Amino acid sequence: MISVEQALTEILSRLPDRQTLVCPLADSLGCVLAQDIQSDIDSPPYDKSLVDGYAVVASDIQAEVELSVLEEIMAGQVPTQRVRSGTAIQIMTGAPLPEGADAVVMIENTTCQNHTVVIHKASLKPETNVMRKSTSLSQGDTILKAGTRIRPIEMGILAEVGCTDVPVYRQPELAVISTGDELVPATTRPAPGQIRNSNGPLLTALGTTFGAATRSLGIGLDDFDSLSELVAEGLKSDVLVLSGGVSAGVKDLVPGVLAHHNVEQVFHKVRLKPGKPLWFGLVKQRAQTTLVFGLPGNPVSSLVCFLLFVAPVLQQLLGVKSDVLPSCKAQLTEAFQQRGDRPTYFPASLTMRDGTSEVTPLNWKGSADQSTLSQANGLAFFPAGEQLYAEGSEVTVFKFPS
Ligand code: AMP
Ligand code: MG
Repeated sequence: MISVEQALTEILSRLPDRQTLVCPLADSLGCVLAQDIQSDIDSPPYDKSLVDGYAVVASDIQAEVELSVLEEIMAGQVPTQRVRSGTAIQIMTGAPLPEGADAVVMIENTTCQNHTVVIHKASLKPETNVMRKSTSLSQGDTILKAGTRIRPIEMGILAEVGCTDVPVYRQPELAVISTGDELVPATTRPAPGQIRNSNGPLLTALGTTFGAATRSLGIGLDDFDSLSELVAEGLKSDVLVLSGGVSAGVKDLVPGVLAHHNVEQVFHKVRLKPGKPLWFGLVKQRAQTTLVFGLPGNPVSSLVCFLLFVAPVLQQLLGVKSDVLPSCKAQLTEAFQQRGDRPTYFPASLTMRDGTSEVTPLNWKGSADQSTLSQANGLAFFPAGEQLYAEGSEVTVFKFPS
C-alpha cells in the first residue's frame, strides 16, 4: 500500500497542462490570473482633493483668515483659475487641485459668506487633504501578479486599470457520482435499509469551495450498466469523483466499471485513516484527460480523501499556489492513544488560548460518524505506530477551509 505522500506525487505528476482563457471581468471572481496585469493609467490621474472644502495656499493660513473665493469645482470638472495668495477655490472630493494651491481646508473648518470664505484654523501644513498624481500607481506598473486569485478587491483594481478581458486559467470541471443501492436523495425519508445521500452534497460543495465548476450526477446504483452510463457522462469532466463502491464488497463495482471505460488504474488503497480504500486512475480521450477518484463511501473518509488528494488537483488546475490545508502545531488538551500502522487524520477542534494553539481530538466514532464533524475545524495528525500522546504534546493540525 502506498503512503499519502507517494499517492499525492503519483496524482500530481499526471496533471494535464493548465489552459488559459479570457474571461469577462464580471465573471472572473474566484478565477486565478494567468498573466501579470499592468496599469494603463496613473492613479490618481491628477492631483486631487481628498475632502470637500477650499483649495488654498497653505502659507496663507497662520491665523483665522478671510479669502476671496474664485470659483467652485465639482468632481468631474476641471479648474479654470489659479489660486494665489489671498484667494481660495471651493472644491469637492475627487476634483482636480487647482494650480497654485497646495492644500485643502475641510468645509467643516470654514464659514462661507457670499464670495468670501473664513478659514477657522491657526495653521495648515502643505499637502493637507491632497493626493498627488500617481501616488497609488503609475502607468505601466504591474499591479497584480500571475497566480493571484481574484477576490472582490482584485475586481475593483482590474476595473480601475481597464482590464475588462481578464486572462485567467480555465476553471476545472468536476463531476460527482454517489454510488450505492442503499442511497436515497436527501429529500426522501429513508425506508428500512436505506440512508440519505450525504456525500453528494458534501463533495459537490467541496468542489465549489476549491474553485471547480461542479456538477452533481446524482446517485449511481450498484448495477454495472446503469453505473456505466453515469460514468460515461462523468468522464466528460476534467475530474470525476465517485463515492462508495471501491472496497472489497460484492457490490463494489466502481473499479470494474472504470476499467470498462479504459480508465487506467494508478493506485488502489493508501496507507491512511480514514480513507484507505481510495482508488485513483485516469483516461485520455481525444484531447481531454480525466482524472478519476473513487472515494470510500463513508462520509468522513470521503471528506479526508477529497481534502488530501482531490482539492490539490483542483487548486493546481485553477492556478492557485497556496496550501490547500494550512497546517500549524498545537498542544493536545488531553492524552491521545494512536493505534495501528496507518497515519491518522483525526477530527479535532483547534483553539487559541493565551497565544498558544491548543487542539482537542473530538469524541469521534469513526468514518461513518459525520455529525461530530460539525464541531471540528481541522484534522489532528498522528503518524503511524502505537503511541500514547500525553496531554500537552505538540501535534500537527491541518485546518479545514472556511
Ligand atoms: P461502500 O464504500 O460503498 O461500501 O460504502 C461504505 C459505507 O458508506 C456504507 O455504510 C455506505 O452506506 C456509506 N455510504 C456510501 N455512500 C454514501 C453516501 N453517498 N452518503 C452517505 N453514506 C454513504
Ligand atoms: Mg456501496
